[in-house]
Amino acid sequence: MTGDEHWGEKNGATDNGSRNASAVKGGKPVVEERWTRSLRYHVDPMPTYHMRRAEREIVERSEIDAVLCSQRYMALAMCRDGEPYVVTLNYGYTAQENALYFHCAHNGLKLDILRETPHVCATVVEDLGYREGECSHAYRSVVVRGRMRVVTDRDGKAHGLRVLLAHQEKDPGSVERRQLPDDTAYDRATVLRLDIAEITGKRSD
Ligand SMILES: Cc1cc2nc3c(=O)[nH]c(=O)nc-3n(C[C@H](O)[C@H](O)[C@H](O)COP(=O)(O)OP(=O)(O)OC[C@H]3O[C@@H](n4cnc5c(N)ncnc54)[C@H](O)[C@@H]3O)c2cc1C
Repeated sequence: MTGDEHWGEKNGATDNGSRNASAVKGGKPVVEERWTRSLRYHVDPMPTYHMRRAEREIVERSEIDAVLCSQRYMALAMCRDGEPYVVTLNYGYTAQENALYFHCAHNGLKLDILRETPHVCATVVEDLGYREGECSHAYRSVVVRGRMRVVTDRDGKAHGLRVLLAHQEKDPGSVERRQLPDDTAYDRATVLRLDIAEITGKRSD
């Protein structure tokens, strides 16, 4: 994919995020074929777990999208050599691309981990309040799995930052004019794109 840094192409991952069939098989647990909505990726295939409380699953993609659109940040989990790392990041969601965009500094621990292992899992929570006296919490939440990449070309970065601003800001145009006055501004930010491979939603009323 032009303009993107490619990370972690080991384990049979290919350019479009899918894996070659022979790498997926070979005695590993079979991953249920519900990854067909978008780009697919498999690292060490994890068997699909169905939600234990099936009545709580949000099945409509439009409602999952509503949760993603209602929030501004997510907890993004990564893993390197069996060691987990989680950071909170603001995001921009685009349903058309089935992708999320992020911005960050040019270096740091999360980028180092993502360069080695681009496969991530993230969660977004719409907090509907603790139910005092019931020891329960009302929420809608989303879990996303997918593959993160750095967007390196200027048009792609500009697009990613616009998606991010449109998601975050009431008046994205004025922020764009102020913070991205010219092309050099794009060199100051690293833009990440997460292609969603699997997404699930859950609610607790
Ligand atoms: C609501 C919210 C929104 C944020 N949005 C963004 C965003 O859009 N983009 C962005 O780049 N960052 C954002 N951050 C900050 C982000 O969580 C990380 O701190 C930051 O991305 C640096 O990560 P790094 O791995 O490069 O850390 P490094 O600077 O490399 O530092 C790594 C070390 O610092 C510790 N550390 C790193 N971050 C945190 C933290 N947040 N809290 C406690 N310890 C930490 C780690 O345990 C690790 O030991 C946001 C944080 C919050 C709370």
